Order: sequence, then structure tokens, then C-alpha cells
Amino acid sequence: MEYRVIGKTGIPASIIGLGTEHLDGASGRDIDSTIHAALDAGINIIDVFMPGPDVRRKIGHALKDRRDRVLLQGAIGSTDIGDQYDISRDLATCKRYFEDLLRYLQTDCIDFGMLFFMDSDQALDDVSENGILAYARQLKKEGKIRAIGASSHNPDVAKKLVLRGWIDLLMFSINPAFDMTPVGENTLDALEGGFHVPNRQGLRPERHELYQLCEKHEVGITVMKTYGAGKLLSAEHTPFSAAMTTTQCIHYALSRPAVASALVGCESAAEVSDAVRYLDASAEAKDYTWIFQEEHGRLDQACVYCSHCQPCPVGIDIASVHKYLDIALLGTDRIPPSVRQHYLALPARGEDCITCGQCETRCPFAVPIMENMRLAETWLGRSAT
Ligand code: SF4
Ligand code: SF4
Repeated sequence: MEYRVIGKTGIPASIIGLGTEHLDGASGRDIDSTIHAALDAGINIIDVFMPGPDVRRKIGHALKDRRDRVLLQGAIGSTDIGDQYDISRDLATCKRYFEDLLRYLQTDCIDFGMLFFMDSDQALDDVSENGILAYARQLKKEGKIRAIGASSHNPDVAKKLVLRGWIDLLMFSINPAFDMTPVGENTLDALEGGFHVPNRQGLRPERHELYQLCEKHEVGITVMKTYGAGKLLSAEHTPFSAAMTTTQCIHYALSRPAVASALVGCESAAEVSDAVRYLDASAEAKDYTWIFQEEHGRLDQACVYCSHCQPCPVGIDIASVHKYLDIALLGTDRIPPSVRQHYLALPARGEDCITCGQCETRCPFAVPIMENMRLAETWLGRSAT
């Protein structure tokens, strides 16, 4: 397993995490075997978003004696009504649900308390005015959560969460289809309605800007809907010309800026095994660029961080250099010191480029890589001011 630090939390998470939504209704034995397969594979982050107490109890049972090996994401701002999840912005209800979660999971601390379903400006107002944000901060002070996060499907609202400094991490829905959906469209409606991608115009800048903003502010992202609720894996339901593989979906999510972990919903040990096969996959198996080439045209020489141009003979991680360069070139703001530090920490950087040109022959999007290596050094290198 590989691990990445979740932004400013400083906590390393496995690059593949486990979503537990699909375990709802499963037997205790199946929940045990799925969660144990994940932990045995080195997965150390699990999102617990579950309506009914029964499944939460079973997850608690599966984690018993292994709690210290896993990071838990739990919701603040949700509740259960008749075993169906619901959103709550009532402080007393949120407190009861959170305390229940601790009890069912047999723990006294959830690592990440996630403000739940922050998809509208109204949600921002409600968690602030109803004392839910203050409650999350209190939980952090008391050590009942280690960091405050939020879950969202709306890039505009998520940006506000980051800019207001409310959160340390963000769980956001990321996959190629959502990233092509205009911000005004409800991505969950798109899922329900057959998962077409309306007005396809390539990757939407507002979503890309969110990921860059997170990188800039050191808000780590954990990804939900990595497989688009399974529809991207289905030839019948995909909006693209062919089904994606789980490896391609995971690679797409992991190649967005700021992403620490791609959570995948699994309902069996076999599905966990399928997901972690990503770790041994070849560059060809990970390649998702056909989506953009076949259906969505050129991307105006913009890097999509796919790593199709690798390997570089001097070991430059070309996608990572582009992630930091793109943030450096954003607007007129001062370049955040953390971005420069991350750039300088790369084992090889723009200054090491020997202009061999091999990468440019492999990039499907005609990105001027050699010129960008020079620019990266100018803006972020040791002699940059
Ligand atoms: S330079 Fe091209 S091939 Fe390399 S990561 Fe960027 S888009 Fe992909
Ligand atoms: S041109 Fe530079 S970045 Fe590209 S492969 Fe050659 S050395 Fe690496």
C-alpha cells in the first residue's frame, strides 16, 4: 500500500480507502471479511456513512481490536430516520447521532468529523447559525475528533468551506464524468437520471479550481463516488464510449491535485482485492486519457496530470511538477510557501530536465512540457523569489 498525508492534518492515509455504504444490509460475516480484507491490504481509512444502527454496530464489531489501525471518517450533521439516512441541522439531533456513532463503533474518538452534505449556501448558514460548526470545534478540542472535515458534491460551496478556514480535509465526489458536469448541475441527479454528462465541454474549470484551492490551502481531499456509484464501470450506464476499469477510476481520482485517498465502495473481500490491484497495475492499465481523446477533444495544452508522459530519464514526476506550477500561475496571489516546499521536496525538478523531448512525444494533449519545466523552475525553484 502507498500512503499520502492528508493536507494540513499531517496524518498519512492509504491512497485507497474504503467506503462502507454498500455494506448496508450485509451480514456480520460479510462485513467482517470485507473490512478485514481492507485492513490486511494496508487500507487505513474508512468512511462510515451509514443510516441504521445495526450496520454501524457490525462495523464496530469488525474493527474491534483493530481500531488503532484505522482512520475513521464519521458524519456530523446527519441522522437516521427509520434506518434511512437524512440530513439534520438540528444541534441536539446531530449530537445524539454522533454520540451514537462512537458507541456503536466501540471507540471514544473518530479521526475525522465530517460536516455532512455541505452542498448549498443554506447548509453553510445552518451549520454556522445552529451551533453545529461550534460543536465540531468543541469535539476537536475534547479530542473526540482529530480534525474537522466536510463532505460535498458542490464545488462552489466546497470552495467557501476552504476559504473560510472551517475544514482540514474535504470529502468530495470526483470522477471524470462529474468533472465534466457544469457546476449548476446536480451531479447526484445526473447519476439518478442515467448518468449522462450534460453539455460536455471537457473538464470543468470550477472543479479543477477547487482541487487547486485545496492544494494551495493544504486541505487534503478524500474522494467519494470514485466509480460513479458503479456506473462508470458498466458498459450499459457509462456516459463514455466504453466502461472504465476500477484501476482507471482510482488513477483518475488520485491524479487530481490535493487528493490523498480514493475511497471505493466495496461489499466483499473480492471487491477490495480488485481495488488494490491498482497498486501493481501498469501505466497502460491506469491510462484514462482515451476518455478525453475519443470524446472530448483537445484540452488546450493543459495538463490533466495523467502521467502518460512517463517515464522521464532523469526521474521527474512531470504530473506533480505541473500541479504545483498550475497553482503558482493562479492569479496574482503570493505563491503559498507549502507549494514551493512540496515542489522543492520532489526528488527531481524542472532544473533537472535535459530537454530530451521524450515526454512530449507521449503526451496526448500536446502540453509544452519542456517549456513548463523551465517555468516551474522560474516560479518555484531555489532561486525564485
Ligand atoms: S504532460 Fe501530458 S501526459 Fe504528462 S501528465 Fe500532463 S497531460 Fe498527462
Ligand atoms: S524533456 Fe525533460 S521532463 Fe521530459 S522526459 Fe526529458 S528530461 Fe524528462
